[in-house]
Amino acid sequence: MTLSDDQLDRYARHIILKEIGGEGQRRLLSAHVAVIGAGGIGSPTIQYLVAAGVGRLTLFDDDRVSLSNLQRQTLFGTADVGRLKVEAASEAAARLNPDPILLGLDQRIDAGNAESLLEGIDAIVDGSDNFATRLAVSDAATSLHIPLVSAAVGQFEGQLAVYRGWEADKPCYRCLVGTDPDRPDISCADQGVLGALTGVMGSLAAMEVVRVLTGFGEDSAGKLLLLDALAFRMRTIRLPKDPGCLCAA
Ligand SMILES: [Zn+2]
Repeated sequence: MTLSDDQLDRYARHIILKEIGGEGQRRLLSAHVAVIGAGGIGSPTIQYLVAAGVGRLTLFDDDRVSLSNLQRQTLFGTADVGRLKVEAASEAAARLNPDPILLGLDQRIDAGNAESLLEGIDAIVDGSDNFATRLAVSDAATSLHIPLVSAAVGQFEGQLAVYRGWEADKPCYRCLVGTDPDRPDISCADQGVLGALTGVMGSLAAMEVVRVLTGFGEDSAGKLLLLDALAFRMRTIRLPKDPGCLCAA
């Protein structure tokens, strides 16, 4: 793939970084990334991945934009209220960058369809709002050997991790959360969430996708980044692989 003059200009600040360079930018342009959920996390993730020139993005979300979304879901404007998120997101992406192709699917991923929907993807970002979806996406990512960037927020706390659970020494999302089917979903509607915090975690998720695709810096898989906005603190802890987990079988 040869970069056009416009692309050399548009992506100049990436290309000049020796850790990314022209080769890394070409990898971004030829990558296919799936984003699960166009919410508070998905909004900035999509914005930064589109801006970075990720060649193809597939967005999964079956929801419509509501007024209470706009406090944090920066991809949408007031005029989008009531529209399908995948439609409004596609328009917003096209305004940002004509290069990437954003394919929006207004369907929910579940354990029955996750593997077929995610096959052939280079990296997955999960910013979804429920536990069942997260488990289905994680199991498919592990089985298909697709790196999974998982971001979550609740009130003033954020979590971020990159999973490659098919590797002998790397955990999967199940290793972190267990398999309790009755685990309650923590919803922003019930508990509230700081809008800017979802932006931070979604931006970090986009950054980890760029790391996955270009290989800059240290490997982030096997660690969990925790952000405590109340305490003005971020820390990273090691995530061990659970020997009793499905991914260790
Ligand atoms: Zn596991």
